[in-house]
Amino acid sequence: MILDGKLVAKVRRSQLAQRCEAFKEKSGRSPGLAVILVGDDPASQVYVRNKIAACGEVGIKSTERRLSVSATAADIAREISALNEDNGVDGILLQLPLPKGLDAESLTEMIRADKDPDGLTMDNLGRLFVGRPRAISCTPFGVMKILEHYQIPLEGQHAVVVGRSQIVGKPMAQLLLQANCTVTTCHSKSRDLEAITRLGDIVVVAAGKPEFLGKNAFKKDAVVIDVGIHRVAKADGSTKLVGDVRAQELDGWVKALTPVPGGVGPMTITMLLENTLNLAESHL
Ligand code: NAD
Repeated sequence: MILDGKLVAKVRRSQLAQRCEAFKEKSGRSPGLAVILVGDDPASQVYVRNKIAACGEVGIKSTERRLSVSATAADIAREISALNEDNGVDGILLQLPLPKGLDAESLTEMIRADKDPDGLTMDNLGRLFVGRPRAISCTPFGVMKILEHYQIPLEGQHAVVVGRSQIVGKPMAQLLLQANCTVTTCHSKSRDLEAITRLGDIVVVAAGKPEFLGKNAFKKDAVVIDVGIHRVAKADGSTKLVGDVRAQELDGWVKALTPVPGGVGPMTITMLLENTLNLAESHL
């Protein structure tokens, strides 16, 4: 079975559009998201453009603050402080990565926790940890919504998460744990990785390595969530998108798989919109 993230995203975005309309009627304004983009990293520019377009699609008012590559931490802090005070702004997104020399963690921490739609502040990470979440990191939150949409049973299942980043692996493991899975987290220092992933009823792969795991890494009828996304060169010189998993090997072997593209990717932006709207509603 293909776990079609594009479809799940479409369903959720139409629900979000209705909620945005209701929010507007109640408050007299649209929910607001401000995106801060520092420097001119081409990939970040594309991500920001996509996020802004998605906001427009559901009725979230977005604003973009561009700072030059030579912006200092104080410049960014000033921008964040102004947005923290702005009542028309419900969510502030500091697009990562920041140019070299800037400390993303301390700058992210300056965002008011009730305006952090990426769920990356210590406050929001801590809330997730104690099971009282506010904004949840968008990619793992999106994975949970895909599993929910396809009614994949979670309770008592063994979930293996490959990767322990702050933005994907760690919150993913927490969410699966809260859904009553038995959770194993693997990382770059794990020994005999494939012996561990083969135990997983559900395996979430977020290692950031193109086509890293194939059939040998999964038990028959596992549910595989491929978070990775990489643009790689083809023999003819053109490029294609691939995940962390060698999808062509899994056909007929695993029970369900998220494709790349069209799996986890579309859900990440959708959950950013959903988090922004949730925060906006909390500001009413
Ligand atoms: P990261 O580089 O911060 O973390 C990678 C993690 O994988 C680390 O914790 C590391 O310990 C682990 N790892 C690396 N090599 C390993 C190995 N050989 N065996 C086991 N574990 C290993 O990356 P990230 O930000 O967590 O992102 C992971 C992947 O997901 C990337 O490909 C990224 O592009 C993608 N991503 C996709 C979306 C989306 O919307 N689809 C969003 C975020 C990230």
